This record gives sequence, structure tokens and C-alpha cells, in this order.
Amino acid sequence: RDPGEPNGRHYRLGVMGGTFDPIHHGHLVAASEVAARFGLDEVVFVPTGQPWQKADRDVSGAEDRYLMTVIATASNPRFTVSRVDVERPGMTYTVDTLKDLRAERGDDVDLYFITGADAMAQILTWRGVDELFELAHFVACNRPGVELDPAITGGLPKDRVSMVSIPALAISSTDCRSRVADGEPIWYLVPDGIVQYIQKRGLYREPAQERRE
Ligand code: ATP
Ligand code: MG
Repeated sequence: RDPGEPNGRHYRLGVMGGTFDPIHHGHLVAASEVAARFGLDEVVFVPTGQPWQKADRDVSGAEDRYLMTVIATASNPRFTVSRVDVERPGMTYTVDTLKDLRAERGDDVDLYFITGADAMAQILTWRGVDELFELAHFVACNRPGVELDPAITGGLPKDRVSMVSIPALAISSTDCRSRVADGEPIWYLVPDGIVQYIQKRGLYREPAQERRE
């Protein structure tokens, strides 16, 4: 029994992995909802290094994505940001993220990996899928327009996966990027500080498909 935990229960750490290119209110609402629903003590946002699912498009620099994540989460005392994925060389795989956090935080922490339903649907294609469910409980958030395929969820261990419906937020980073490229507003889709950071750094100005380093 951990003396730091009056109820003797484990510290509950939510893990919100993402490209966060840019972070938006969909991510923040999902983290906040899951934290309330599962009594999480903290949610750590983990911006990816190079995401292997997105090898086909140019992703903004890791430092820009990391800083935007810090800016967006700074006002919430339960939200933190980790650099484990940004600093690990090579592609980011969720199994490595969870192993690193486990090593950093110790064995007495329960990990809750928070993911959108779209990402959850791909989970069986992820590297290290057997290990994933030993490392963390998975919480799949229902995202507008994305249904979880029962053929897929049927293959997942029920005691390690939960589905949560969150308030409909049809916000995606893809839409935010193309809005900026087209000169349309992103106010209120992302936190004010993110609008200002994107402007200051000149991110997403060219149409996404033409953006090259
Ligand atoms: P992109 O459009 O570039 O794929 P995205 O909006 O999906 O970006 P990611 O950084 O890819 O954002 O997502 C990180 C995690 O947040 C994923 O698990 C994703 O499913 C989830 N997520 C993204 N947008 C929402 C939303 N509006 N509501 C709930 N979950 C979301
Ligand atoms: Mg996505």
C-alpha cells in the first residue's frame, strides 16, 4: 500500500498520444472527458516523433508540435506533456511510448491509453499488439462519423478496452491545417494560444499536398 495514496489505489495516468499537428479542442475534450469518467489523476500528452502512419505526408517539426501541446495544456493542473516520443529516434510506436512511461513512472501506476475510435480501429495492425494490452487499459473515444467495427472490437480483450462517447466535436487537425492554408479561421477550434503560435511560426500556410521541406 502506497502511503501517498490514501485509498491505497494506484495512481491513474492517462496517456494521450498524437501527432498534434496542431492540437485542437477535440483532443482536449477527449482527455478531459476520459479523465473525469475514469478518475484519472493526470493525463500526459505525448506528441509523436515521426508517426509511421503518416509517413506519406510532411508533418510539422517535432518542436513546434511539442510546444503547441505545452501551450494548449498549460492551464490545466492535471495535464502534462512528455518528450519521450519526440526524443526517441526513428518512427513512433505506441508500444515504445507505453514502455518508456512505465519505466519512468514505475510499476504502481495504472496506464490508460486514450485514443480516438479511428485510431483504435487500426490497433490490430500496430506493432507489439500482444504487449499493448498488458501495458495499458485502452479507452476508445467515439468521434463523429467514426463507427467502431464490431469485427475489430470483437478481437480485442474486453476487460482491457472501454468505449466512451464524447460530446460530438467534428474537429480534426487535417481540417485545421487546410483552413489555415485556405485563409479560413481556426478560432475556437483550437485554443487561442495555438492560433497565435501558428500565425507567429507561419505553419500550414501552403496547401497541405504541396507542402515540402
Ligand atoms: P489528423 O487529422 O492529422 O489525423 P487528428 O485530428 O486525427 O489529426 P491526431 O494527432 O492524429 O489528430 O490524433 C491523436 C488522437 O486523438 C487519436 O487517437 C485521434 O483518434 C484522437 N482524436 C483526434 N481528433 C479527435 C476528436 N475530435 N475527438 C476525439 N478524439 C480525437
Ligand atoms: Mg488522426
